[in-house]
Amino acid sequence: MNSVTSTVRDDLSALIHPYTNLALHRETGPFVITRGEGIRVFDDRGSAYIEAMSGLWSAALGFSEKRLADAAMAQFNQLPYYHTFSHKTNAPAAALAAKLAELAPGDLNHVFFTNSGSEANDSVVKLVWYVNNARGKPAKKKFISRQQAYHGTTVASASLTGIPSIHRDFDLPAIPVHHLTCPNYYRLGKPGESQEAFSLRLAEELERHILVEGPETIAAFIGEPVIAAGGVLPPPKGYWSAIQAVCKRYDILLVIDEIVTGFGRLGTMFGSELYGIQPDILVLSKQLTSSYLPLAALLVSDALHDVLVSQSERLGAFVHGLTATGHPVATAVALENIRIIEERDLVGHVQRLAPVFQERLQAFADHPLVGDVRGVGLMGGIELVADKARKQPFSQPGILGSYVFRQAHKHGLIVRAIYDTIAFCPPLITTQDDVDAIFEAFGKTLHDATEWAHSQGLI
Ligand code: PMP
Repeated sequence: MNSVTSTVRDDLSALIHPYTNLALHRETGPFVITRGEGIRVFDDRGSAYIEAMSGLWSAALGFSEKRLADAAMAQFNQLPYYHTFSHKTNAPAAALAAKLAELAPGDLNHVFFTNSGSEANDSVVKLVWYVNNARGKPAKKKFISRQQAYHGTTVASASLTGIPSIHRDFDLPAIPVHHLTCPNYYRLGKPGESQEAFSLRLAEELERHILVEGPETIAAFIGEPVIAAGGVLPPPKGYWSAIQAVCKRYDILLVIDEIVTGFGRLGTMFGSELYGIQPDILVLSKQLTSSYLPLAALLVSDALHDVLVSQSERLGAFVHGLTATGHPVATAVALENIRIIEERDLVGHVQRLAPVFQERLQAFADHPLVGDVRGVGLMGGIELVADKARKQPFSQPGILGSYVFRQAHKHGLIVRAIYDTIAFCPPLITTQDDVDAIFEAFGKTLHDATEWAHSQGLI
């Protein structure tokens, strides 16, 4: 256990941690992070770690961007809080909405703010239901999502999430949602099946499902351009164009969750651009503020916004919103964050750095423990397996992954273990030298993991 500082004592006595084994936490105590500098964070003993996950896929500008702190402070001094209910507005919220409308693809010209990605996706569900009632289609309410999708942890967004552990014993899903096959080519592509054929098979599955359920009952399809928390899964070739065509055919709204992929992660401002997707609703968060303050946004098309306005003509106020919707400090930080991304051409930087990053990632493909290496832009995943030739996972999934997660700390590296897939998602400000440092530390970690796996009889 860490030295018993007051942080450790207070944490152990009072703090409930998300995504943490709460029983184990009582034995191990917390890992205290005290400060950040560039792409590194430091613990309470002064040890440095390269944050190769940008925190939770989110700190685009790293952990010490003073301009974001200054933007927050200036806004705190001007107007620290006001709401946007009942016609009130504030300058940063309005300016950020206009900026997002300008950046977003197509006619996604109208923006609603929440504090978190989960709330944004819950808002999507309500909004879609509301719109379909207004359009005289009250039966059109079901959502289609995918197995392994991650859309959040609040009641509706966790229902959209397609990861069984997130539903178990929480009595979820709690909304009508169907999770179709995950676009995981490595695991679910058939022998000899091309990526394109796999994509068509999944689009056919979607169409069949819609026809069985009745198109008049299916409201929307939701997906991340690249599944992130569900295992770093870039889509197989042709996937999004095939899925999009089916949605169009049956008047099914396409909700694209770019909470991870937004703002340059894939080398384009949005993943939708990379994959030729035209969403009806786009959801953003994380890199929107580099997570320096909580903020998320959902953008809707002109057509959907027209329906919202017509509902108000009928019903009066649009009665949805949060105390902090359009918070002036969070939106001021987002504006400055986007300004920096543009000024420093970080999207171009990712485009230039991605080939180097992906090459370093692929260099692990021949390692005997590595079953699959996948990635796009500054995002990557390395899936560890018990038997490479047979793609056989470990009999106890996640044991080796969590060893790698812990051992990486010893080599000054923070990665994420999604069961046995090791995820990388470093800040957009990462340099080529940093990429070298990340994979050097990971190479040492994997070396240790191989010895440990032998010693434990895992391989
Ligand atoms: N969607 C995606 C794609 C995400 O990765 C996440 C968070 N990891 C969320 C939604 C939920 O966002 P939040 O944790 O801010 O509620």
